[in-house]
Amino acid sequence: GMNFKGLLKKNWLLIATILSVLLGIGLGFLVREYASFSQLDKQYFGFPGEILMRMLKLVILPLIISSMITGIAALDSEVSGKIGLRAVIYYFSTTIIAVILGIILVMTIKPGISQTAEHIDREGTTPNVTTVDTLLDLLRNMFPENLVQACFQQVRGFAHSLFIPNITKDYKITGSYSDGINVLGLIVFCVAFGLVIGKMGEKGRILLEFFDALNEATMKLVQIIMCYMPVGILFLIAAKITEVEDWEIFRKMGLYMVTVLSGLAVHAIVVLPLIYFVIVRKNPFTFTLGMAQALVTALMISSSSATLPVTFRCAEENNHIDKRITRFVLPVGATINMDGTALYEAVAAIFIAQLNDYELDVGQIVTISITATVASVGAAGVPNAGLVTMVIVLTAVGLPASDVTLIVAVDWLLDRFRTMINVLGDAYGAGIVQKLSKKELERMDLMSDVDVANPF
Ligand code: ASP
Repeated sequence: GMNFKGLLKKNWLLIATILSVLLGIGLGFLVREYASFSQLDKQYFGFPGEILMRMLKLVILPLIISSMITGIAALDSEVSGKIGLRAVIYYFSTTIIAVILGIILVMTIKPGISQTAEHIDREGTTPNVTTVDTLLDLLRNMFPENLVQACFQQVRGFAHSLFIPNITKDYKITGSYSDGINVLGLIVFCVAFGLVIGKMGEKGRILLEFFDALNEATMKLVQIIMCYMPVGILFLIAAKITEVEDWEIFRKMGLYMVTVLSGLAVHAIVVLPLIYFVIVRKNPFTFTLGMAQALVTALMISSSSATLPVTFRCAEENNHIDKRITRFVLPVGATINMDGTALYEAVAAIFIAQLNDYELDVGQIVTISITATVASVGAAGVPNAGLVTMVIVLTAVGLPASDVTLIVAVDWLLDRFRTMINVLGDAYGAGIVQKLSKKELERMDLMSDVDVANPF
């Protein structure tokens, strides 16, 4: 049996991370009270956290490339097609459920009814995005014209919004860039490349082995980075707390935040676990606990892309999901499957309508559900991305796009929670797709046994 000491030993990193979150919050408030930090001091203070972010982002590139290529090449095209279809059906249906859940909650709680848009201060300027821009950009990103460039594409604004998140900088078009990496474009390329390698037989094997080794080496690096995580996270959250200027806004927007957070909670504690239980027939809460390290990370860094390395480790090590599934399903999920963001966008749009005394008819509510889904797919897995694609939802139902500035002030907090739910949704997706693909995976195991015994 597992005694207390054993439990401590097995979960020391998680325990240390959670402790460092609490310590960081305490330290942040202490510094706020007793030290008068200048802007520059705050930057120095957040430095250990900045290093953590840099390290996590550093491994995204080799991780996505090696996992997607080996993930696809290891399956035959028929199997990968089936798994891909299942994953897409899962992404789509859970996102729609999240949107509907959000709409029901915001229409019941009505957080915007008792006040008006005039009572809430506007912050920053409106990002300049249209639905067509976003859709075209999504497609454009899928086909990068230059592979090397796709690895370090720069988007104005995003890179700087990491530590002092705001959307006040002027940048246009969101696309699926993730802090300099065109993740979507790389995924599309790696799928195609993996399929080709898988069909090449003996010759393709060299490449497959190369990328497999690259993947293993990268995961080893991730393991090392994770040891630094408690330190980085402590300073990340402490620095954030010294930076927040407007606490008053939390009182003004309290009900709105409660609506978003309760929607996210119901999705995480009821909806996803229920679907998992019905399909997989295992305890969903053990599964959620297994993902704890990734969930805390997402909460602290507001980016599903940068959390990806930790998501991989938790899914494979703690929840024992087959590598052939995680390599394939997790990177795609981190880029396009965002239940939390979709729920958030639907709630926020209807909240803004309520603030403006704007009556929505059934057609407009349907429009909100569809555009919120599209907007969540279009949002990159980086901080505040959902706030930018929010403009699509607003313009689709005729609300002023500039009203997105009403909710900017609380986004640094809500962003953390919706990112956490985005990551949880991806993880559950991997667990569910694995269960649904059991037959194919077992058949492949049998075939590869034959293969090893008799390679030619
Ligand atoms: N920060 C979120 C994520 O990375 C995206 C969003 O802003 O909703 O998943």
